[in-house]
Amino acid sequence: MRALCWFGKEDVRLQEVPDPTIINPHDAIIEVNLTAICGSDLHLYDGYIPTMESGDILGHEFMGKVVEVGPEVQNLKVGDRVVVPFPIACGHCHHCHTDEFALCDNSNPNAWMAERSFGHSPAGIFGYSHLYGGYAGGQAEYVRVPFADVGPIKVPDTLSDEDVLFLSDIFPTGYQAVDVANIQPGSTVAVWGCGPVGLFAIKSAYMLGAEKVIAIDHVPERLAMARHQAGAEVLNFTDDPILEALKEMTDGRGPQTCIEAVGMEAHGTGLMDYYDKAKQTLRLETGRPHALREAIMACAKGGTLVVPGVFGGIIDKLPIGAAFSKGLTFKMGQTHVHRYLKPLLARIEKNEIDPSFLITHRLTLEDGPEAYKTFRDKQDECVKVVMRP
Ligand SMILES: [Zn+2]
Ligand SMILES: [Zn+2]
Repeated sequence: MRALCWFGKEDVRLQEVPDPTIINPHDAIIEVNLTAICGSDLHLYDGYIPTMESGDILGHEFMGKVVEVGPEVQNLKVGDRVVVPFPIACGHCHHCHTDEFALCDNSNPNAWMAERSFGHSPAGIFGYSHLYGGYAGGQAEYVRVPFADVGPIKVPDTLSDEDVLFLSDIFPTGYQAVDVANIQPGSTVAVWGCGPVGLFAIKSAYMLGAEKVIAIDHVPERLAMARHQAGAEVLNFTDDPILEALKEMTDGRGPQTCIEAVGMEAHGTGLMDYYDKAKQTLRLETGRPHALREAIMACAKGGTLVVPGVFGGIIDKLPIGAAFSKGLTFKMGQTHVHRYLKPLLARIEKNEIDPSFLITHRLTLEDGPEAYKTFRDKQDECVKVVMRP
């Protein structure tokens, strides 16, 4: 089969690779109908995630048709059309039982690596380095899905592939960021980053009762999308002094909920930006936490800061004193996608949201290597790439 494979920094190639096979009786093989490139795939593309190996198959956002099931699989049959969550979860461990599927104890065969880096291992993730299990990803014609009774959700024929694809990650990820903040009706939410997760966070904030959402970015077409498609008030950090602007827009209090949907490759301004870029290049810090620092400073006293943006290692100069003094609550981590599949599928069926609103590029796997570059460089007004194998 054909698959997009990682060969090093800025080196993604379409390769001919062996078809996946059932290796555990709980596996299923999915023929991919539609797959996407995620903002977090760009951290792989840019070489910031360790333990990638030459030839690793990329991709954790995909949906398709079941073409083979292992003998123990109960809930799926050949021909079912499904969306697959990006974290892999066993369904039976302590964390799966408490709906913390991205923290599953049993789905990372390389748990020892993660334990060395993080103390404990999170769940395995499709196509996201050996630290996260070394699973082949879904930017391919076929993919093996472990624990097939636990993750994939069947989707009705009335919905198109584009309607449901983003249940695999970015819709639940934006939604969880707001859900875990327990926002109060009438509150103001600020979102750093108007990429796909930020856009879904804005939409979700309104769904969950926010009165005002303020979105921060510097890419004109993304700010336009945040304003016109998602209804946010927008700030461009190259023009507006963000901290002052946010104070002004919230009667001096700051936003009660701040969502950092940027992660380790934030772009900033001024001296601190040079500092971060130099230290990250020298591998003395693994992330450039510009947006995270700003969100801490902006957040209202007693507020909640949620971080769906991906961080991998160590960062510098985090204003922990500000967070402590203001009594902030931090929430972060990978998304417990399984928890949100049914409720968010129901919202799509009820037409409360059309998740395909942010797709700017409809391509094939052949276009993949070029699409990574276009997306990373934010060229051609690229916000979200989907590909048909
Ligand atoms: Zn993703
Ligand atoms: Zn588990």
